[in-house]
Amino acid sequence: MAVPKKKTSKSRRNMRRSHHALAANSYAECSNCGELKRPHHVCGSCGQYDGREVTAAEAV
Ligand SMILES: [Zn+2]
Repeated sequence: MAVPKKKTSKSRRNMRRSHHALAANSYAECSNCGELKRPHHVCGSCGQYDGREVTAAEAV
């Protein structure tokens, strides 16, 4: 069985894990109302997705 020759230092371990951080949420403008929304998600303010109403609109 392969065994590491040297203990991985805190520095090297943390450098490796620097790629593990979760990416920040991305947002895109809704094409209908211009509000920021998550890509591939129904718009929270107008309830539209892909140019059509998919949920009952909230009280404006
Ligand atoms: Zn919208």
